Amino acid sequence: MTSKRSPVEGPTTAAGIGPGAGERSSALRQTRPRTEGWTQKTDAEGRPLLQFAAPKRGKPPTHLADLSHEDRVAAVQERGLPAFRASQIEKHYFQHFTRNPDSMTDLPAEGRSELVHLMLPALLTEVRRIQTDGGDTIKFLWKLHDGALVESVLMRYPGRITLCVSSQAGCGMNCPFCATGQAGLTRNMSAAEIVDQVIQANRIIEDGGLGDPKKLGHEGERVSNIVFMGMGEPLANYNRVIQAIKVLTDKKHGIGMSARGITVSTVGLVPAILKLAEEGIPVTFALSLHAPDDELRDEMIPVNSRWKVEEALDAARNYFEKTGRRVSIEYALIKDMNDHAWRAELLAEKLNSRGRGWVHVNPIPLNPTPGSVWTASEPAVQAEFVRRLEAAGIPTTIRDTRGKDIDGACGQLVATEADRADAAQTPIGV
Ligand code: SF4
Repeated sequence: MTSKRSPVEGPTTAAGIGPGAGERSSALRQTRPRTEGWTQKTDAEGRPLLQFAAPKRGKPPTHLADLSHEDRVAAVQERGLPAFRASQIEKHYFQHFTRNPDSMTDLPAEGRSELVHLMLPALLTEVRRIQTDGGDTIKFLWKLHDGALVESVLMRYPGRITLCVSSQAGCGMNCPFCATGQAGLTRNMSAAEIVDQVIQANRIIEDGGLGDPKKLGHEGERVSNIVFMGMGEPLANYNRVIQAIKVLTDKKHGIGMSARGITVSTVGLVPAILKLAEEGIPVTFALSLHAPDDELRDEMIPVNSRWKVEEALDAARNYFEKTGRRVSIEYALIKDMNDHAWRAELLAEKLNSRGRGWVHVNPIPLNPTPGSVWTASEPAVQAEFVRRLEAAGIPTTIRDTRGKDIDGACGQLVATEADRADAAQTPIGV
């Protein structure tokens, strides 16, 4: 991709669909996954291959965070203990971030260790921790009970701490620009495995992993925001993700976070978006659109072969209507692929046709995948893309790509051979 072009291209067509005459000129490059050597795998019917069902693997051990409060009570009662023991264990895990029986002196010494191991089995074993951005970003590599590898990224920003969590080991959505998608789906994560990423992060913050909280004057700080933008398509693991969100937001028997601080992001699994809108949990919803036209999106986001742009946008608008929560549209800007000014205008037109004030666009400079020839848009092109959206009245914010230098930004979470070698040496936690 060596072409040079003006960041400002010609006018769009009167109908606003596709490039205008000036923009159809040969000066306007249009690369596609196909032209970059990507071959779409297809199923027996010739449709893009998508893995919705996870391969069968040994289930992770059942953990307190997989259960409702009532089921936790039933579990302790089955062992001949009173119901309040369940609440005590909940407090140790969700508020004090520990599964160490020695620190749970309010539980009877006899049988304590056994009870705690039953209710709080080890789920994530830390394999590697890489810190960057002056200590404000940490990427974790975790090994699950069966050796599957997942990652999460902890980021301190002024006034908040965000954790990017994984919801699946790998991903079956096969997006060609995404390192995780290229590795395929290993398995769904359990609700507790999702929650445990937050618990571990809170423990690490408390232990000074993001700097000494006392010295920083940040005592008692915790993860305040969660984004489901790590490994996996969260809505392809719907029930476990919802259970995890319930635990994260449960003020009495869980972590007690604000649902507004939790962002669920999807490439557009429409039936699941409609279902999410009915859950009565006002999480922030983000649609990873990346292209406003089916012609390009069919290639960039293979799930578009099942649910087209218009259907995904209708579902996003429905989410706003049902929850009152403004929707985010995520748009990875890829040089010469989807960063054309006419696409910004087409996107604005499609969003505005569904009303005003319901949506916000986050263009994200692409994080190049190792080995990929795709690159981020040039700054002037990016600026023009934003200008056209804003000129059409669409609130737009370029998203920070924190963690870029540790492959910890979206689309970059994937276990490497080196990770696997380290993981093989790491004993699973007890
Ligand atoms: S971009 Fe998201 S949905 Fe697509 S393959 Fe990557 S992790 Fe999966």
